Amino acid sequence: MSAFPPPYCPEASCLAPQVLQRAVDALAPHAGDALQHNVPLAPYTTFKIGGPADLFWEVTSADELATALQVARDLDIPHHVLGTGANLVVGDHGVRGLVIRNAAHHLRINRETHQLYVESGATMYPDVIHAAVDAGLSGLEHYVGIPSTVGGALWQNLHFLSPAPERERTMFIEEVVHEADILTEDGTRQTVGVDYFDYGYDYSILHDRDDIVLATTFQLEPGDPERMRRIMEENLEWRSLRHPPLDTEPSVGSIFKKIEGVGAGRLIDGAGLKGMRIGGAEVTHRHANIFVNRGGATAADVCALIRRVQQTVEEETGYHLDTEIDFVGEFAPPSKAEPQFMPKPEGIVTAAERAKMAAE
Ligand SMILES: Cc1cc2nc3c(=O)[nH]c(=O)nc-3n(C[C@H](O)[C@H](O)[C@H](O)COP(=O)(O)OP(=O)(O)OC[C@H]3O[C@@H](n4cnc5c(N)ncnc54)[C@H](O)[C@@H]3O)c2cc1C
Repeated sequence: MSAFPPPYCPEASCLAPQVLQRAVDALAPHAGDALQHNVPLAPYTTFKIGGPADLFWEVTSADELATALQVARDLDIPHHVLGTGANLVVGDHGVRGLVIRNAAHHLRINRETHQLYVESGATMYPDVIHAAVDAGLSGLEHYVGIPSTVGGALWQNLHFLSPAPERERTMFIEEVVHEADILTEDGTRQTVGVDYFDYGYDYSILHDRDDIVLATTFQLEPGDPERMRRIMEENLEWRSLRHPPLDTEPSVGSIFKKIEGVGAGRLIDGAGLKGMRIGGAEVTHRHANIFVNRGGATAADVCALIRRVQQTVEEETGYHLDTEIDFVGEFAPPSKAEPQFMPKPEGIVTAAERAKMAAE
């Protein structure tokens, strides 16, 4: 995982033409027409930001995913596995080498063992969650509405609050991971148990090793369909009240890591930074820890806004905000534009206002 700030470069670099040609020659027999050149990545991310990939292959099975990785590794070609693109910023200069978009989504359910096997490019919601709930199996419904592939969920240790009204703890995907098929960084295919991932909050071993999840088996339990439906409805409502809608206000969810007992969002809000905009990137009034793309935002705008928010919060509170998102590809230097402050749009109710209304 690459942390903030990513290395900046004024110009995009390029791979030597003979290196690219070697990659095309090796990949084409496996990928056929699915191998594309110079593909803009913004549409493949929830932030709608990022330059082109030199080579792009959307794989549709775990075997194709393993092949793509093995070929790229054998030729020592830079490569990146992309899920929903919901937790990363892609640099404006794009990504050198091969981007493997993971759309491997084969799924099967064993009704006797209550296990759900699924390839790692399947989308958690709606595909995997609906399949589980339709089969009467509980354990995944909590993560409804979160944009993620199965592979991204295992990478991140996807999490959300336990059901309303108590919402007394954070639930993690690790609680239902039984095992996973992975391609290890040294090129072997293995089935590993949940302990392999060394899970923590927003952490798995996948942040530090170049292992890739090919497929996973979730261990679920028979559940009450009405309860599962209620949890899904309540969690979707929770999200719609607090998070910007992705179709009109693209984002990558929370930008900064949680600070236990303090709250990154509260620090940003307290520093008066809601509504701060640089270029097309803005700290949304809905949730101070989420930046939105107001249209035409660049990765350079996002980096400038991250830096400004970090500096201001650190000066005013002494807390350092660490980013929780991944930075992929080549980044132009941060935008130099001075920040503007946008007023809160009508109709938005903030968390603080909601808490005040609930207390009245
Ligand atoms: C509106 C919004 C709300 C969100 N809410 C939440 C939330 O409530 N809880 C939460 O935990 N997260 C949340 N997120 C963050 C995001 O949904 C998760 O991090 C998600 O798991 C990312 O999955 P992805 O498939 O999009 O991964 P990507 O963003 O495509 O990739 C993220 C990283 O995972 C790696 N990766 C992807 N697939 C694999 C694989 N098969 N094997 C190994 N590594 C892989 C990538 O290489 C990359 O480094 C939210 C994001 C948004 C935009």
